Amino acid sequence: MDCLFCRIAAKELESETVYESDAVVGFRDINPAAPVHVLVVPRDHVESVAELTRAHGEVLGEMFEAIATLARDAGLDGGYRVVTNVGPDAGQSVGHLHFHLIGGRSMTWPPG
Ligand code: 5GP
Ligand code: ZN
Repeated sequence: MDCLFCRIAAKELESETVYESDAVVGFRDINPAAPVHVLVVPRDHVESVAELTRAHGEVLGEMFEAIATLARDAGLDGGYRVVTNVGPDAGQSVGHLHFHLIGGRSMTWPPG
């Protein structure tokens, strides 16, 4: 499968891994938008939120638990942002579901 994040999850490509389990991988974004910028992905390929069903409930639960733990461990006590882009209008550039955990600086709203 020619998918960047499938290949990172399978360790065919290098990344700075910060979380790993049978179902979920977290690694640092190569082009960080903030002092903390981690991508949390399912190992199994899912294109985006648009493909999710309740059958993904368990892996999604683990992804959010990982995000909360990573944020706590990074000391993001002032808060953080969890973002997922869906499709071209939102700027999704990698077609494998990922949640951005972004923190360590203050942010503005709404996003661009
Ligand atoms: P999207 O634009 O799809 O919401 O987010 C994709 C993210 O993946 C971007 O923030 C981008 O910097 C990151 N990214 C793209 N290629 C790589 C890579 O090879 N390694 C890592 N660690 N991150 C990547
Ligand atoms: Zn994939």
